[in-house]
Amino acid sequence: MAQPVLEWQAGTVTEIRPETRQTKSFTLALPKWMAHRAGMHYDVRLTAPDGYQTERSYSVASAPERVGVVELTVERIEDGEVSPYLHDVVVTGDQIEVRGPIGGYFVWEVALGGPLLLIGGGSGVVPLMAMLRHRAAQHATVPVRILYSTRTPDDVIYRQELDSLAAGDRGFEAFFTFTRLAPPGWTGYRRRIDAAMLGEVIKPFGTRARVYVCGPTLLVEAVASALVPMGLPIEQIRTERFGPTGV
Ligand SMILES: Cc1cc2nc3c(=O)[nH]c(=O)nc-3n(C[C@H](O)[C@H](O)[C@H](O)COP(=O)(O)OP(=O)(O)OC[C@H]3O[C@@H](n4cnc5c(N)ncnc54)[C@H](O)[C@@H]3O)c2cc1C
Repeated sequence: MAQPVLEWQAGTVTEIRPETRQTKSFTLALPKWMAHRAGMHYDVRLTAPDGYQTERSYSVASAPERVGVVELTVERIEDGEVSPYLHDVVVTGDQIEVRGPIGGYFVWEVALGGPLLLIGGGSGVVPLMAMLRHRAAQHATVPVRILYSTRTPDDVIYRQELDSLAAGDRGFEAFFTFTRLAPPGWTGYRRRIDAAMLGEVIKPFGTRARVYVCGPTLLVEAVASALVPMGLPIEQIRTERFGPTGV
């Protein structure tokens, strides 16, 4: 079925929440809100006074159960065009033009089942968080594990929420790997995601796992090419690439 043509609409920023040094979450109230599927994104369009326009995509972080609003979590890219504007200029009450929800491939909903393995790098955790929030809102018991790679512990987005979800839910486990700096006494992973790490995290699920991988292109490609030799059917692996650099 063809997707309906989506119109641009002006969302009102109702809340801005710092998540880490480099990321902030923006809650937008949308006059023409439509339920998304966890994993979908919105396009954000900025227009300069001279009429110049530029667009970027941002995944929805919130669950579809949060009616009327979408939450976008944006990492500030130092020399970027759009993300520094969102971080440094936009304030609560501003209006931002958005179009969405977009995408139908990198999506998960409870009815698709599991077990689910979510693999994220940096801000690639955003659509995975929407999946976890959707699962929690539905009180679903689908087994899920997340493997989340960041440079340092301070770069982990949604840390508290991930920890409290894991504490209250025996069906959910979170694994972190820090590629540059691990906290003192850290006994977990401290390297880029590799085949050995994937093998350990996927073990209880085996080849039944449905896998969603999102993050920098290098991470996504490394993970996908390590998963295929493990015998995972290709149609069980879904990927989304956010940007050019590696974590
Ligand atoms: C489907 C989809 C969903 C996305 N969801 C999110 C999201 O939820 N949160 C989020 O923060 N971003 C997300 N992105 C990335 C986002 O669309 C922008 O690419 C990002 O914010 C950079 O835009 P910019 O205008 O600030 O930088 P640009 O002006 O586009 O780029 C500036 C410089 O930074 C480099 N660069 C661009 N993107 C990245 C990146 N992601 N990491 C490192 N370097 C980069 C460019 O190569 C360039 O050198 C998503 C992308 C896609 C395709």
